[in-house]
Amino acid sequence: MISETIQVQRIRDGQPATVPILVAYDPARGTLAIFQDQRKRDQSFADKAYYRLEEFTVDRGRAFWLHRQQADIEADPSAVDRYAVHLGDKWDECDCKGKYASERRAANCKHVDCLKRLLAQGHLKRREMFGGVGA
Ligand SMILES: [Zn+2]
Repeated sequence: MISETIQVQRIRDGQPATVPILVAYDPARGTLAIFQDQRKRDQSFADKAYYRLEEFTVDRGRAFWLHRQQADIEADPSAVDRYAVHLGDKWDECDCKGKYASERRAANCKHVDCLKRLLAQGHLKRREMFGGVGA
């Protein structure tokens, strides 16, 4: 299990801000937990999301499905059951609303921030993602 708190750039009240996000990745199970919106009161996180990671093939860079948990989908029926994240050579993309909401792409969403970090640290090995298949 890989678990750490990273500092990411966000827009808060129209201003750039640096905020903490907790990332927990289990390479053996292919599961990812992302906690954000830390409370000042007790340092706990108000927003907790859990995913199952699945890599899919793209021409350039790396791309992943982040499958949401069934309980999360049922609690939020208007939302999709998975997000697509593409980490490219020049830019990164995610189809979640957080990415679209980031003003003029001044900030990433939590999915891009977390996967970029794990990738930079060498944690997203293709062999792990495909269960033995792949480069
Ligand atoms: Zn996203």
